[in-house]
Amino acid sequence: MNIKPIFNYFIGLSFLFILSPTISSLSNGILLRTTPTMSISEANAFIQKEREKNDIDEDITLRIVEDNALEREGLGGYCLIGPEGDYIIGVQKNRLSKYILSHELCHIQKDFDEAAVSGGYNSTEDLNIMKHGECNNTFKYQFFQEPRATFYGFLGIFK
Ligand SMILES: [Zn+2]
Repeated sequence: MNIKPIFNYFIGLSFLFILSPTISSLSNGILLRTTPTMSISEANAFIQKEREKNDIDEDITLRIVEDNALEREGLGGYCLIGPEGDYIIGVQKNRLSKYILSHELCHIQKDFDEAAVSGGYNSTEDLNIMKHGECNNTFKYQFFQEPRATFYGFLGIFK
């Protein structure tokens, strides 16, 4: 039996696996900067529609980050559990798009049962919590959750 094709297949898979965080952060960066932006009311309407469609019972609060605070931290957006038990999506005003909203909604739907982190009462508090938390450094996040959210965010552009 010739095991070379099987061997090559595993080498290929390992390469993809090792590259996946890089591919995901590159595509994330490109999509963040190139997808058309929307207004705050359009963003809220989009969130509401997606919430109903996906049977999310909790309220989702859109928190607008006014300056470039997220960009400075290397973040496209964030999602956390709010102090009132709602979900929070934080996005810079100049980066509001279907891409970033779908990306964060994917985290809420698929990752929150195990990775829920409590946020603060405003975006400054949220950012401090995230800076000091370890929430984005897990293996599962880097290799699975973030690439998946990037992919769902990309599909969300066409909604
Ligand atoms: Zn993400």
